[in-house]
Amino acid sequence: MPTIAKEMHMPAYGERVLQKDMKGPDVAELQLRLAGFRGTLPDGDFGSGTELQVQQFQRDVMKMASPTRVVDKATFIAIDQFAQRCPIDFKQLKCPCGTCSGFGRGLFRGQYLPGGQGQEINNLYEYPGIHRMLLWAVRAAYFYMPEHQFSFSSGYRCSVDNQQHKRTSTNHHGKAVDLDIALKAGESKRDDAVKCDAVRGKLVELSNAQIGWTAANRKALEPSSIAPTWVHYDVRQYDAVYLADSYFCKDADSLDRPMPIKV
Ligand SMILES: [Zn+2]
Repeated sequence: MPTIAKEMHMPAYGERVLQKDMKGPDVAELQLRLAGFRGTLPDGDFGSGTELQVQQFQRDVMKMASPTRVVDKATFIAIDQFAQRCPIDFKQLKCPCGTCSGFGRGLFRGQYLPGGQGQEINNLYEYPGIHRMLLWAVRAAYFYMPEHQFSFSSGYRCSVDNQQHKRTSTNHHGKAVDLDIALKAGESKRDDAVKCDAVRGKLVELSNAQIGWTAANRKALEPSSIAPTWVHYDVRQYDAVYLADSYFCKDADSLDRPMPIKV
């Protein structure tokens, strides 16, 4: 049955030029990697939202005067170079509990806080790493705001770490990171708060993030009332299909999954 086998071949990321109206896992991977450029969902369908993502990436990163919105070889290479320029420090993301190996133990799949069945905010599952899309979105924050020195003040915080700190929130079981901005000499807590507000504003403007958790399937930021001197960024509002285990990673290799660009 060679015909069926041919139809079932799923092009890998970088195997073909991508443009509007194409579909496939390679489109989903593109959408994921451009999470911080406007941002859509990794549904594998190259629609007008994905086109706007590519346009913004080509305009801002590749400095193209007239973006083509077509993901050709130069654009694939530029995405790789963007990743290299904006590395993610996994040492800062590891859970500090001393019991798990850094990203939980995969406990509590399908279990929720009492009364909160089916609601992601109450999901007790220790996801296997940090969501790749969130980390690619963080890279865009690094790119757009080189004036700030960012670090992760919180990455993974497993159930043991939660017990140690008497916390109930499970957001940091892989779906959230907290970014700290280094203060310059003489800067105050007030300056810190102003900077964090400015960063949140940029992420709303450039990455399609929301402040608070009103809309489904959008990246979320804690408001300044909760996070005055840090920037909490999460993907808690994603539908379960976009929180599958395969979206989570524990190291730079699995974040980037470098693949030869063949186009
Ligand atoms: Zn832990």
